[in-house]
Amino acid sequence: MDPADELICLGHDENLAARQGAILPPIAQASLFAQPSFAELAEGLAHENRRFVYSRGKNPTVAALEAKIAALERAEEAQCFASGQGAISATLYGLLRAGDHVLFANQVYGPALQLARHLERFGVTHDHLPEADAAAIAAAFRPQTRLLYLESPGTMTFRQLDLAAAAAAAKARGILTVCDNTWATPLFQKPLELGVDLSLQSLSKYTGGHSDVIGGVVAGSAALLATIFYGAFLLNGAVLGPHDAYLLLRGLRTLPVRLRQHQADGLAVARWLAGRPEVGTVLHPALIAEDAAIGARQLRGYGSLFSFTLKEAGHPEVARFIDALRYFRIGVSWGGVESLVISPSREGNAAALEKAGLPAGLVRLSVGLEGAAVLIADLEQALEKIHR
Ligand SMILES: *Cc1c(COP(=O)(O)O)cnc(C)c1O
Repeated sequence: MDPADELICLGHDENLAARQGAILPPIAQASLFAQPSFAELAEGLAHENRRFVYSRGKNPTVAALEAKIAALERAEEAQCFASGQGAISATLYGLLRAGDHVLFANQVYGPALQLARHLERFGVTHDHLPEADAAAIAAAFRPQTRLLYLESPGTMTFRQLDLAAAAAAAKARGILTVCDNTWATPLFQKPLELGVDLSLQSLSKYTGGHSDVIGGVVAGSAALLATIFYGAFLLNGAVLGPHDAYLLLRGLRTLPVRLRQHQADGLAVARWLAGRPEVGTVLHPALIAEDAAIGARQLRGYGSLFSFTLKEAGHPEVARFIDALRYFRIGVSWGGVESLVISPSREGNAAALEKAGLPAGLVRLSVGLEGAAVLIADLEQALEKIHR
């Protein structure tokens, strides 16, 4: 972790004097901002991506969060949204037009692909390479390709993609690259430093950190952010509220220390699972040998979200295992203090999973902050119940 990033997260970049020494950023719970003159109102409306006019555009509390995320991502600017999916949809709506093609590479967040299928009705086409390297990506570009959309480590299988090589291949063709950086957060991976144009995140995961807030953000150049602001954000109208921005600013305060603990406990649980006879493979970026060289170049640390396969891969076995867990709560999302378990397994869907590049018997864990020993004991007793 870069010590400069930790200081940003802890609030040492903030101007306390400008807010009477208040140790935390104030919540600007206001829908509109009165202007000193009519001329300044006109000026503000002409530059709504820079001025505080109406909170459906810019709001000071949300702007404070955006400034921090831009600094962490080494971006000129950042724009927050009501959710991570809001950041994804505004990026696609803002940058694409009829006739464009989008290439998705690596396993990516499912709703991003659902949105791509929805965009077909507006004349935007796409392809998806669930497993790809830079050469396969370059070979899949079409004359109409406008955007390369990546996620690394990828959703569910946590394989890594060489971000610098993929972004260079896109840049050579004048194609923009977007990376979903939710897993690593900018503390552990900086896509823009690797040549990626836009880094987006769900803030509902590690940044919020307590499973009590939904938010999203995209970071990049001022020019691209202005295109997204005027071409999608302001038109969609789905903003992050100032109170949610405050919760996310508070989440950032403890993000470095939480991530360190998530990393240590996630690795301990993953390594323990790798030694168990009931377990097939452990899909944790630290344990996937084929990706070690890529990881050494682009990943500074590990999140605690990973998957593994049960050797007894049938749906009844997966369900029995999950239902036997006591400390892993059964639920979607991840990145909070509580450990979570989920699986894409459903009765009779093994063939569909294989087609999507997901192995049968896949179980995904989000390792929370209960302590590795408690979680390992829980997994052990649940593994023993698979056959009962
Ligand atoms: C959760 C998630 C999203 C979507 O974020 P929301 O805040 O839930 O809309 C996008 N990408 C990844 C990798 C996620 O885990």
